[in-house]
Amino acid sequence: MTTKVDHLIIGGGVIGVCVAYFLAEAGRSVTLLEKGDIAGGSSYGNAGLIASGHAIPMPAPGVLTQGLRWLLDSASPFYIKPRPDPDLVRWLWRFRGACTQEHVLRTIPIVLALGSASLALYEAIHARHPLDDAYQRKGRLFLYRAQSGLDHARKDLDLLRRFGVEGEALDAAAVQNRFPPATESIIGGVYYRNYAHFSPAHFVRGLAGVVEGQGGIIRTQTEVLGFETSGKHITKVRTTRGDFDPGEVVLAAGTWSAPLGKMLRLHLPIQPGKGYSITAKRPPGYPELPVQLSDAKVALTPMGDALRFSSTLEMAGFDMRINQRRVDASRQAMRDYVQGAEGLEELEVWRGFRPMSPDDLPFIGRSRSYDNLILATGHSSTGMTHGPITGKLVAQIIAGEEPDLDLTPFSPARFS
Ligand SMILES: Cc1cc2nc3c(=O)[nH]c(=O)nc-3n(C[C@H](O)[C@H](O)[C@H](O)COP(=O)(O)OP(=O)(O)OC[C@H]3O[C@@H](n4cnc5c(N)ncnc54)[C@H](O)[C@@H]3O)c2cc1C
Repeated sequence: MTTKVDHLIIGGGVIGVCVAYFLAEAGRSVTLLEKGDIAGGSSYGNAGLIASGHAIPMPAPGVLTQGLRWLLDSASPFYIKPRPDPDLVRWLWRFRGACTQEHVLRTIPIVLALGSASLALYEAIHARHPLDDAYQRKGRLFLYRAQSGLDHARKDLDLLRRFGVEGEALDAAAVQNRFPPATESIIGGVYYRNYAHFSPAHFVRGLAGVVEGQGGIIRTQTEVLGFETSGKHITKVRTTRGDFDPGEVVLAAGTWSAPLGKMLRLHLPIQPGKGYSITAKRPPGYPELPVQLSDAKVALTPMGDALRFSSTLEMAGFDMRINQRRVDASRQAMRDYVQGAEGLEELEVWRGFRPMSPDDLPFIGRSRSYDNLILATGHSSTGMTHGPITGKLVAQIIAGEEPDLDLTPFSPARFS
C-alpha cells in the first residue's frame, strides 16, 4: 500500500518535531515517521540546555593536541576509537581543517544568531502552549577547580563579550553565593545569562502532541528502510509500515541521517558522538541553576523533580555499550564539585548519539541531488538549542520565503 503525503519528515527527535510544528503552524499537512518513540534518540537524555550563549565551536586551535592527550586516558571526557573507517578518517580530516582561529571567529556570530533566534522561538512556543517540560531561563554557571581552566574560561569570556555575549567572571565567594552547594575546592567561575533549561524529552513529546492537535500525523514504530528515485526526484519512501509517495521529504534523523543519506547516494559527514547522562532525584532545596563542572566537562541541569549530569564525547561508531569508567568519572566529578552528591538517588543511566558535523555547524537546506529533499541534521552538541530555528528555517525554505538567517554556512553541499 502506498500513501500519498505532502510533507514527509523522517525522524522524531527535536529537529523533526520542530520542523513538523512550524510546517503545521503554516497550515501545511505533515506526516512524521519515527522508527521508535518520539524523542527516543539523542533528544531524550541530553543535558536539556538551551545554550544560546554557547558559541565557541568544538574545532578550535589546541583541541587536537588536547584530544590526543585524552586518548590515553580511559576515563577522559573525549575519546575517538581508532578504527579503519574511511568515513571517520574523512570526518577527522575535515575537523582538523576547521581547527583554526579563523574558523572560530567566523563561526561565533553565526552560532549566536542561531541561538538567539531559537531562544526567542522557545519563549514564544512556551507562551503559546503549556508544555510540561520544566522550562526555566536562569543562565548557566561554569565552575572551576583548576587555575588553568579558570584562566582559559576568562579568555573565552573576553572573546565572547566582543560579540555581545553577556557574562561575568566570579571569584570563589561569588560562586558560593550563587550556587551554595559548591564545594570548597571551587576557585572561581563564569556566569552566562543567555541560557535556558528544561526537560528535553518532555518538550519534544509535548510539541509532538501540539502537532497532532493541529492535524499533523505522527507515526511511531515506523522505520524508513529505503527510497525509490526517478532522476532527481524521490518517488517513494519505503518503511516497515507501508510505502509513502511524498511531495517533499525532510531528512531529520539525527546521526542516522548519514546511513539513510547513503541509501540516496549522499555522503553526509556526520559521525555518532556518544554521550552519557545520569538522572537522579533532585534533592530538596537544590538551586534552579544549571552548572558546568568545567574541568571535568560535566553538565549538571535541574529538570523539575530531577537532576541530570551529562558528559563525555566518545566517537566509536554506533556502539551503544556503556563505558563504566567514564560514567564513574562523572559521578566522581559530582562529588568533587557539589556538596551532598554522595547521597543522590539515581533513576537512570542513559547514552545517546550526538549527530556530529566536522565544523560544528548543522546541515540545513535543499539537497542539490534531489529536488524534493531538504536536510535538517548534523546539529552536533546543540540540537536542542537550535531545534526551533531549524524548524522555522525549513518551513521558510518549503514556502519559498526569504529565510530569517543566511543559510550559506549551513549548506549541505559545503564539504562536497
Ligand atoms: C550527553 C548529551 C548531552 C547533550 N546536551 C545538549 C544540550 O544541553 N543542549 C543541546 O542543545 N544539545 C545537547 N545535546 C545534543 C542534542 O541532544 C542533539 O543535537 C539533538 O538531540 C539532535 O536532535 P535530532 O532530532 O537531530 O536527533 P535525534 O534526537 O537523535 O532524533 C533522530 C530520530 O530519528 C529516528 N530515526 C533514525 N533512523 C530512522 C529511520 N530509518 N526511520 C525513522 N526514524 C529514524 C531516531 O529513532 C531518532 O528518534 C546533547 C547530546 C548528548 C548525547
